[in-house]
Amino acid sequence: MTARRFINGRLPDGQGVELTAISGVFVADGDDLGDAETIDLDGKLVLPAFGEPHAHLDKTLLAERFPNPTGDLLGAIEVMRIGWATIDEADIVDRATRTVRRLVASGTTLIRSHADTNVFAGLKAIRALLAVRDAVEPLCDLEVVAMSYPLTGPDGREGRRILDQAIELGADVIGGAPHLEDDPDDAIDHLLNLAVETRLHVDLHVDEILDAEYDTLKDLSRAVIRHGLEGTVNASHCVSHGVKSEEQQREIAAAVAHADISVVTLPRTNLYLQARDMLQAPPRGTVGVEAMAQAGVTIGGGADNCQDPFYSIGRCDPLETAGLLVSVCHRTPDEAFAMITDSIREITSRPLLDFQPGSPADFVAIEAASIREAIADQPAARTVVHRGRVVASTTVDTWVAE
Ligand SMILES: [Zn+2]
Repeated sequence: MTARRFINGRLPDGQGVELTAISGVFVADGDDLGDAETIDLDGKLVLPAFGEPHAHLDKTLLAERFPNPTGDLLGAIEVMRIGWATIDEADIVDRATRTVRRLVASGTTLIRSHADTNVFAGLKAIRALLAVRDAVEPLCDLEVVAMSYPLTGPDGREGRRILDQAIELGADVIGGAPHLEDDPDDAIDHLLNLAVETRLHVDLHVDEILDAEYDTLKDLSRAVIRHGLEGTVNASHCVSHGVKSEEQQREIAAAVAHADISVVTLPRTNLYLQARDMLQAPPRGTVGVEAMAQAGVTIGGGADNCQDPFYSIGRCDPLETAGLLVSVCHRTPDEAFAMITDSIREITSRPLLDFQPGSPADFVAIEAASIREAIADQPAARTVVHRGRVVASTTVDTWVAE
């Protein structure tokens, strides 16, 4: 396999850096490399590649075709219920591939995407995203979550059958939305039993609602311990947690930490979908990030939807999410950056990108002086490396008159 030497890079502490990769991982200086290809990073800041822990690639780029009549979550869900009948697999593959390529260009080499796995979409979304996963394998690691709902109530039996088929087809992660179920506890039990059987990880939409009474996260924490699934379950959204009292937030955060559940907050889309009926002091629609952080919970930051009925704008760039984590969730730039890098490697049980020998050679070189400046400016000019190979490069020419 070709060895590649990356020269003229710069680390966040200002030190110059040279990196050498072979067979997809970094190797120590001095290893015999034979004929190494040399790539000049032109003094760019070298950072670990980004992760997107929560995409919906099956619905991406549908904003024009299916406008959301109310702008809120239920409006988006309703419009997609009808919309699925008019979408085929080739359409999903085309849109999902375009968004993946844009994510890769921004420096994202690890993506977890949900795929609607329900009576409306049937198996076409999961089939399409599994095909995309295999096709984009040279560019990035894509995990596909079978987001199954409903699993209880009148359509529950059919929902369970479709989920079984999705797992058979090769879904990477088991997903669902228990807080929307007729019987949330039964849905959680079913999902976690499947996880025990299949040994797959679980990633659920949890309490995506600004109602402090919703407590699915607490119930999920107990169930995860009961099933012995600590360290394999992620809870996304958890919006209701953010509007509970400080005492309740801390109590639930402790339970989540005890069950070793990770959490993904999605400020971009939840700022858009939530609190549309509140004129006065609308809440932010995020998990209680500070309480979770103080309890030691691993928290990732993601984008959720991209230019579809759930979020009609949005770029394919985790630095956009990092910027929101700074302003909306009051994280420092370094904390926000860890939430789009290290946390997502932890959530998906992958080795950290620490540039040490043996570490996966995935990084982004960007025209910025520091992590803070990268988040502030979000410069387009980037070179992206996945498994030791340059997979994307963007250059920008700006001219301003005297
Ligand atoms: Zn989602």
